[in-house]
Amino acid sequence: MIKPGLAVVISSPSGTGKTTICHRLIGDYGDYQFSVSATTRQPRGEEKDGVDYYFMAEDEFLKSRTSGKFIETAQYLNCWYGTPLAPLEKAVDQGKIILLDIDVQGGKSIKDVLPQAVMIFLVPPGAAELEKRLSGRKTEDQSRIKKRLDMSIKELGVWIEYDYIIVNDDLDRAVSDVHEIIKAERHKTSRLADKKYWKKSLIELLGLNGNRR
Ligand code: 5GP
Repeated sequence: MIKPGLAVVISSPSGTGKTTICHRLIGDYGDYQFSVSATTRQPRGEEKDGVDYYFMAEDEFLKSRTSGKFIETAQYLNCWYGTPLAPLEKAVDQGKIILLDIDVQGGKSIKDVLPQAVMIFLVPPGAAELEKRLSGRKTEDQSRIKKRLDMSIKELGVWIEYDYIIVNDDLDRAVSDVHEIIKAERHKTSRLADKKYWKKSLIELLGLNGNRR
């Protein structure tokens, strides 16, 4: 049976583990793909250009933004972030699940332009745990970590605008919860009624042919 492609937004306060969850889904199951964002922030730790982000100078980012290369852009702690449009369209068209690890502003923009996107909000098991995870990052100075923490607490308020909420108190369970949600979403009749598939009858969709009685 046809499995429709999906754009899946995973947002959470910084330090909640969404990037780890995205990479686990890609490693553990087929069909998943990571949406590599562009950013003007400096690479952190082992991050690689073209893998974790496309690291860009601000003028290059703004030029791409003006020419419509991004489906959404947002500023986060004085740096630009943007989701490239072309790879997203291609992945969905090929029946892939493209994971967008983006902040809550980006999530809102995606929902506006792509209402069929699946919106998942990930929350930490508590403020103390969030602080511990952010402070554990040796790649940023204390003032930036403090800003991230303040921002994260502010971002928690928007959970109600998402379709699903998952508490990341256990990584394995959180990964499988996201996968179960996506499995169910791919079986929605409304997705198969999408214009890409609507001309096909259910018989064709199920892969049945004329030899069957
Ligand atoms: P970080 O600097 O920790 O990698 O990311 C900071 C925040 O920006 C995180 O919440 C991350 O999910 C978000 N982010 C990453 N890429 C994008 C993007 O393309 N668009 C938006 N709106 N946010 C992004």
